[in-house]
Amino acid sequence: MPQFWVEPMNIILLGPPGAGKGTQATRLVERYGMRQLSTGDMLRAAVKAETPTGLKVKAIMEAGELVSDEIVSALISDELEALSPQTGVIFDGYPRTAEQAHSLDDILAKHRRKLDRVVELAVDEDALVERITGRFTCAKCGEGYHDVHKLPRSAGVCDKCGNGEFKRRPDDTEETVRTRMAEYRAKTAPILPIYEGRGIVERVDGMADIDEVSASIETVLGLGS
Ligand code: ADP
Ligand code: ADP
Ligand code: ZN
Repeated sequence: MPQFWVEPMNIILLGPPGAGKGTQATRLVERYGMRQLSTGDMLRAAVKAETPTGLKVKAIMEAGELVSDEIVSALISDELEALSPQTGVIFDGYPRTAEQAHSLDDILAKHRRKLDRVVELAVDEDALVERITGRFTCAKCGEGYHDVHKLPRSAGVCDKCGNGEFKRRPDDTEETVRTRMAEYRAKTAPILPIYEGRGIVERVDGMADIDEVSASIETVLGLGS
């Protein structure tokens, strides 16, 4: 009997700090069973666990600068190694340099995965500082919130898990955001043409409401109804 299966989708969510990558990745995970690979989350976990990598990157992250390409590409490679080939992947916050983009090509080829789409979240820079300085997350499940744009439905209680404790990132200050935005402009935005040359970039308006952004992403990915 012939067998049919759908190739897992591999996508990159690209955009400056605060563009909404984490927010949108979480939704794709919940709705489509994809896996979110966020180098920022992995690095923060390493810092918290005080691993050798964590100790090395802590000060760099707090300053809003980029950690080395070798470190982040090794993290991504290890995660893909452990993942079922049937699971689609959302790369969130990676790649961030041309060097990382090339490493990702190698890593994907090794796992016989194909990069289907790069979704660029287009946002205006003024909104980013406001988004980042208002950002907080559930201390237990990591669900993301915002002081203005996305408060928990019941004050002080996580919508997802009912926990009452929240946290803010030490690098989510106005000063650090400026450095992170400069890093994005100088090193990350220039990788877009690599993917444009392959015809796989989809630009989505990241200034719309969270639900509208999700709907646009689903449309460009050919998902949903
Ligand atoms: P953002 O919310 O700005 O998108 P992330 O959580 O993705 O932030 O990243 C937080 C910090 O972790 C970055 O400022 C940087 O120091 C480090 N980092 C995360 N991903 C990478 C990467 N792919 N390359 C280099 N540094 C990274
Ligand atoms: P990134 O992962 O790109 O750094 P996040 O997904 O963490 O960004 O979003 C940054 C902050 O902005 C969060 O507090 C989030 O709740 C909020 N946010 C995300 N998308 C939108 C949107 N479309 N409109 C308004 N606020 C948003
Ligand atoms: Zn929670």
